[in-house]
Amino acid sequence: MSFGGLFMTGVRRTASQRRMLLAAALLLAGISGSMVLYQGLQQAEQQAQARYIENMARYMKADMLGNLQEQINALQRMSVRLAHYGFEGDSGWRVNADLYLSHYSYYEALAVLDRDLRVSRVRNRHQPLVQRDALFPVGAIPTGTLDAVNRGARLGVTQPFQLSDQRPAVTFLTPIGDGQAHFGYLAAVLVIPEAVDAMIPAMFRDEIVLRVEGRGEPLFGSAASSGDGAQPSWDASFTVDVDGDGEGFLFNFAVSDALRSQLTTGLPEVVLGSGIVVSLLLAAIALLGMNAVGQARVLTASNRRLEQEVGERQAAERELAFLVHNDALTGIPNRAGITLYLEDVIRDQGGGETQLALLFLDLDQFKDINDSLGHQLGDELLCEVPQRLKGVLKERDFVGRHGGDEFLIAVERDNRQQVEQLAGNILRSMDSGFAIGEHRLFVSASIGIAYYPESGHTVSELIQNADTALFKAKNAGRNQFAVFTREMFAQAQHRLNLSRDIRHALEREEFRVVYQPIINLRNLSLCGVEALLRWQHEKGYMVPPQEFIRVAEETGIIGRLGAFVLDQALADLAAWSKLPGKLPWLAVNVSGAQIQEHSFAEQLSVLLHQYRIDPQLLHLEITEEILIENLMRNRRMLHRLDEIGMRIVVDDFGVGYSSLSYLKNFPISVVKIDRGFIRDLSFDPEDQAITRTICSLASDLGMLTVAEGVESVDQLHLLRNYRCSFAQGFLFSRPVEADSVAAMIGEPRQWREIAEAVEAGSGLV
Ligand code: C2E
Ligand code: CA
Ligand code: CA
Repeated sequence: MSFGGLFMTGVRRTASQRRMLLAAALLLAGISGSMVLYQGLQQAEQQAQARYIENMARYMKADMLGNLQEQINALQRMSVRLAHYGFEGDSGWRVNADLYLSHYSYYEALAVLDRDLRVSRVRNRHQPLVQRDALFPVGAIPTGTLDAVNRGARLGVTQPFQLSDQRPAVTFLTPIGDGQAHFGYLAAVLVIPEAVDAMIPAMFRDEIVLRVEGRGEPLFGSAASSGDGAQPSWDASFTVDVDGDGEGFLFNFAVSDALRSQLTTGLPEVVLGSGIVVSLLLAAIALLGMNAVGQARVLTASNRRLEQEVGERQAAERELAFLVHNDALTGIPNRAGITLYLEDVIRDQGGGETQLALLFLDLDQFKDINDSLGHQLGDELLCEVPQRLKGVLKERDFVGRHGGDEFLIAVERDNRQQVEQLAGNILRSMDSGFAIGEHRLFVSASIGIAYYPESGHTVSELIQNADTALFKAKNAGRNQFAVFTREMFAQAQHRLNLSRDIRHALEREEFRVVYQPIINLRNLSLCGVEALLRWQHEKGYMVPPQEFIRVAEETGIIGRLGAFVLDQALADLAAWSKLPGKLPWLAVNVSGAQIQEHSFAEQLSVLLHQYRIDPQLLHLEITEEILIENLMRNRRMLHRLDEIGMRIVVDDFGVGYSSLSYLKNFPISVVKIDRGFIRDLSFDPEDQAITRTICSLASDLGMLTVAEGVESVDQLHLLRNYRCSFAQGFLFSRPVEADSVAAMIGEPRQWREIAEAVEAGSGLV
């Protein structure tokens, strides 16, 4: 009891003291604590707010870049498809473009422009934008953008401009094809307000006030929400630079009042206020402290989520930067990446001791592998090539992919001899073939070499000149390398001038068609004519066909030239068909580019129909080289032409040493023995053996033979002995004008004298 009483008294006394003390202490601690807490909480809250807004900005930027990248990828895929499949029937293009427009609702139009930015095809959403100026005023293309696109950048962006209904827009330009097969650009017109509106991440749509500017001009949105007419104050801003040229759209935004109050807990003020009321202090602090912890936890959690997403988006951003400089298929640098690297090397090198060289490597016959075995295997092969190169290169040598089956290799060596040795080693390293899937593929390569600084002071000069040297290596028979020289530059220049002249000459009608008779060797009568193109240059001289046809093929204008020849020759044939006498067939030379045009067979049917000509009278001469090189690809076209009834002639047969038995799987009617075997036929036993074999094998396979370049009776005599079917050459006639052919049709006994000479000589040989 006493113990208990003592206890009770003690408690009572000390408790009140303690309460006092506690109260005082709590008051003091409470006030000072709440002051400290107030400041701390306020600071933390402001930091969390700022972080939240900053993350919003980063998220939005990354999200937009990701969005745009997806669209740009889609555009680029479309460009690749267009470059690859062309515009046959137009439906492929239309389907592609319309899909794109329906998928991305804020594009106003898609268009195909040629290299001079002329519009060739358009698909619109609403207002028809058919003129180039409606797609974008030409002034809207920053200087250098087209250059950059042509140099291999994946994308060009115009400056903002106004559509006819005043909406601001920009146009994206992606190149269609590249290098020599650069057809033009795919242009996509994006309406800025609609795009921004659609691309604001849904989670932020009601939370921000947004304004977009391009070059200081407002393009979207209005002033900030601050309301009271004061200078708008933005909470954050960021720049979206689509093409990576350092210029872009400036996005300013302010968070909405609603969001701001959501982010503001009001906690610090409450803490401070409640600090004054000592009795409520502990409860309030405890309660609100718990709240604060809770609130902070919520804010931290959402911040963490946001940061995680930002992290993912930033990875996407890094990937975008990577994609700009690297090739998606092989992972090695692309043209842009190589350019960057070489610019660095050139800048650092100054008057360095070593020899810097750029090697331009191109696989021979890669297209055939792609066509016969499929793109998948083709792609795998392309991925293997850099690996193979690494085997012969040094660690610090640089390999990139220029596009297609072209690779660029930058090396520094002590001297040129070492560079050229390396080129030889690279070519040999291909010899062992590539194991791809269950196949073993054998491909050779050709290499063009440009030395810095002799073959070019800038990267693009080096690339271009290495390409010129490559062209030379290819022409010289492939599987070899060539070094760029000044003469090549002159030749390249000449080719360029010539291709310009060809265009003009077509407009000025400087071209005409002449015909060389083809003679039946059994009775020496006219049985056919070969159409040969002639060009009398405006300066008076004749340009030899070998010279301009090759350039026309390289520059793509052969299509128009070929169409001209076909039209002219068929018109002449139609005129001859009205004459009495046996109508000769018409042989027309067809280049590789022509038969690769999807609509070639249709174009021909239309012409034949228009001139009412029996398809069997049209012989299409395709050189052995082109035929063999693209046999798989040409196969379908050859069969279509055959079904229509046209005859296929293998021109210049024998130079490629391809076997006749291989050709028997294709609809070939006539084999034209190359002039090279006929020239020395009278005295070269080897040429005699080859010619005799071709004639007898062809006849076994049901094909007819033509010998071209027959100049002497001796040659004629041998050819008759070999049972060659037809002959063509100066012995009978040089190529002549259409009128002269008309005269020959009426005079079947023209070559009587030659016939007599052969008969007379037959006893001697
Ligand atoms: P090709 O198809 O082998 O044409 C035959 C060439 O041999 C013609 O040269 C012809 O004039 C020439 N020739 C004919 N008989 C003799 C002869 O007895 N002796 C000699 N030394 N030459 C003879 P041309 O007209 O200069 O044509 C050269 C090449 O240009 C043609 O070779 C052909 O590959 C190409 N070519 C000509 N016209 C066209 C055309 O319209 N389209 C295409 N794609 N190529 C054409
Ligand atoms: Ca020919
Ligand atoms: Ca020929």
